[in-house]
Amino acid sequence: MSRPASPAGWHRRAAAAAIVAASAAWIVASAASAPRKPELSVEVLDVGQGDAILIRSPEGKTALIDAGPGKHVAALLKQKRVTTVDLLVLTHHHADHYGGMAEVIKDHAPRVFLASSSSHTTPGYLKLLQHVRDAGIRAIQPGPAARRIGLGSAVLTVLPQPPEDTQDENDNSIGIRLDYGDFSALLTGDSQGPARAYWLRTCPALVRDCTVLKLAHHGSRNGTDARWLDATRPEMAVASLGATNDYGHPHPETLSLLGRRKVPLLRTDLVGTVSFVSDGATWDVTTARPGRSEAASSRGRDRDDATARASARLDLNTATEAELMGLPGVSATVARRVVERRPYRSVDDLRSVRGIGAEGLAELRPRVVVR
Ligand SMILES: [Zn+2]
Repeated sequence: MSRPASPAGWHRRAAAAAIVAASAAWIVASAASAPRKPELSVEVLDVGQGDAILIRSPEGKTALIDAGPGKHVAALLKQKRVTTVDLLVLTHHHADHYGGMAEVIKDHAPRVFLASSSSHTTPGYLKLLQHVRDAGIRAIQPGPAARRIGLGSAVLTVLPQPPEDTQDENDNSIGIRLDYGDFSALLTGDSQGPARAYWLRTCPALVRDCTVLKLAHHGSRNGTDARWLDATRPEMAVASLGATNDYGHPHPETLSLLGRRKVPLLRTDLVGTVSFVSDGATWDVTTARPGRSEAASSRGRDRDDATARASARLDLNTATEAELMGLPGVSATVARRVVERRPYRSVDDLRSVRGIGAEGLAELRPRVVVR
């Protein structure tokens, strides 16, 4: 498959997107003149330490990959005016991926439920299966061969399911490749080395060259490795994780593997929900503002957000351009200038970066740090 967006092209689009994101999330930057072709959207929802990924085809067909960890994913879908979920996928039987699934089943009447037959069960998972049965939803499972599922004009390919790992449920994660024209995304749950090695061996063409790679296992060290990145060659990576997670995600080794390959990373803990859109030829990305979680609904969560903001400050000496572009008012050009100005001895050094005025510095000060 061709690689549709050059890095320069991406920067142009993302710069516009970042500016838009700073003023109004969910409005996707677009050329004012050309009529837009039908678009696919992939939203990596900001749900804290877990996964929930909403896919909408140009025809309005929807798939939800995971719905965890809390119970608020159904409410998020309502906010986004999603009425029905055509395909509901549980990548593996862990609560940070199925936490909100019962509510989704109740409120969004999924037509098909895809989950593995792994023998790993929890009371919560067994209850979920009962909900699926009670609602009369058609349940399907991945098999030893790849399976294509049409979502309007987009195609989800379920990767061949690795033999069951009875020791580690993460390795029973379902892998999915999403294709729409030249745009593709790889979503592999919390898969670890053995599952990824299986896919590299049994279906190399299905994991090769993707536009967007969702880092497996929330950016953990066991969710990414050099061979995987060299095969998948993503143009951009995205990680779904909570700012105050107890696991040290994302792992510095993962960040360094991406950095060495110059793969930009967007993290939901830093920039909130990450939304990709594509017309099949080009693609855009927008982010919610840092620290503003779509999932924030309770006082406890607000407290968490305050802590998250404090610990999620970007280090001016190490942040990637993509991360810097998640900051309000920072375009691709300014992000590049910030990187070129290194090293910083204090945040005040930002004054010497063209494009950041006194006002910009005041807005950035609580979000950045020099370590
Ligand atoms: Zn997980």
